[in-house]
Amino acid sequence: MVCSQLEIKHYDDFQLTNFNTLRIKSTAKQFWMPDNYGEMISLFKKFKNETPIIIGNGSNILFSSKGIESPIIYTGNIKSSFILGNIIEVEAGIKAQRLSKLAYEKGLSGFEFLIGIPASLGGAIYMNAGAHGQTISDCLISAKIYDFSKNKTIILTKEELGFSYRHSILKEKPYILLSAKFELIKKQKAEIKARMDENLIFRKNRQPNLALPNAGSVFKNPNDCELSAGALIDKCGLRGFRIGDCEVYENHCNFIINKGNATSVDYTNIVFEIYSRVKEKFNVELTPEIIYIGKMTKDEEKKWKILLK
Ligand SMILES: Cc1cc2nc3c(=O)[nH]c(=O)nc-3n(C[C@H](O)[C@H](O)[C@H](O)COP(=O)(O)OP(=O)(O)OC[C@H]3O[C@@H](n4cnc5c(N)ncnc54)[C@H](O)[C@@H]3O)c2cc1C
Repeated sequence: MVCSQLEIKHYDDFQLTNFNTLRIKSTAKQFWMPDNYGEMISLFKKFKNETPIIIGNGSNILFSSKGIESPIIYTGNIKSSFILGNIIEVEAGIKAQRLSKLAYEKGLSGFEFLIGIPASLGGAIYMNAGAHGQTISDCLISAKIYDFSKNKTIILTKEELGFSYRHSILKEKPYILLSAKFELIKKQKAEIKARMDENLIFRKNRQPNLALPNAGSVFKNPNDCELSAGALIDKCGLRGFRIGDCEVYENHCNFIINKGNATSVDYTNIVFEIYSRVKEKFNVELTPEIIYIGKMTKDEEKKWKILLK
């Protein structure tokens, strides 16, 4: 159903299955789909007293199977791009793969790693997404942010965005990324294409594609251990380990696949079990990358408190 309020596309009791790559079944009480920047700002003003949940491509989120009470705003239709020389300015909802191709078409290097990441720009900056030796923050100059604490738009420089491994200041403050400006490096298109192809082949051989619903790497790689998160999980004998409809991917143990009807409870239980087994065997405490959205059961709450401490 499309409601006429503010004349912005809005759906009640909206099924979220197609808006998260893990394909968890959940329902949003209110789901808003602004078509442009102006509509997005109108929504922020409407929701100034209850910060809404923003989602991009849903590739790093775990929706509660109990549903989501807070309004959700989807950025996927806000995706304009402006290119001048080697400067590129893009809106939050643009897909990472589109951004990678756009840069390639202009002979600009810096986004080759984005070709295989199913992200939106907003989600990529929130997570400081990275792969193959590049991160989204490398070439970033500044970002336009909506600050819910002041109800206004601000510009932050790269330094002010506080980037570190899978972290940005967006995780700490009531900030919504509206757009970002990057300075890329002029290179031969053939060189850029070769790197993009190499990145895609690397992924194809190691990671599940989205036909096997997943949310990317489950845990961050620990910084106090020589082994990667995937290797630690493998050494605990958890390859193919299953709880409910969640299963550790056979070809790469740091991915969990939804085998059909997985719930947030299945996902929480398997993540917690993996965390506990790795801790017991190696005394290493893995930290999950995924962002939980919605109301937790009491047991989920207890487990996520330990996982994120
Ligand atoms: C198959 C697969 C491969 C992956 N490979 C990689 C990889 O190589 N490297 C990597 O880093 N990640 C990887 N990921 C994880 C994921 O794609 C990234 O974390 C990505 O950056 C998430 O972007 P998104 O748009 O999907 O964000 P969402 O999942 O929609 O949201 C993630 C978080 O960002 C917030 N957010 C989204 N948009 C905004 C905005 N405009 N302003 C403020 N906050 C916002 C959301 O509220 C949420 O908290 C992979 C995932 C999959 C499924």
